[in-house]
Amino acid sequence: MEFFCRHCDEIVVGQPYRVISEEDGVVLLNMTVCRSCYKEARALGLHSEAIQRDRKPRRRRPWADASTLSAGG
Ligand SMILES: [Zn+2]
Repeated sequence: MEFFCRHCDEIVVGQPYRVISEEDGVVLLNMTVCRSCYKEARALGLHSEAIQRDRKPRRRRPWADASTLSAGG
C-alpha cells in the first residue's frame, strides 16, 4: 500500500499508521505516518494505531438483524 507520511513528508510504501494526540476531547494531532514515525510517536507516548488496509464498506447482514435484536443479555 502506498501512502503519504505526513511526518517524513514523502510517499511511503507499506503499512500506514495513524498518530492521534488528544487533550480534553480536542484533537491536537491526527496524521498518517510510516512505521518508523509510528515507533517514534509511541516512544513519545502518543496514541497511535495501525490503519486497517481493507476499506470495504460495512455491509449489514439482513439475515442476522432479526434474530439479534431481541436477545437479552
Ligand atoms: Zn514517516
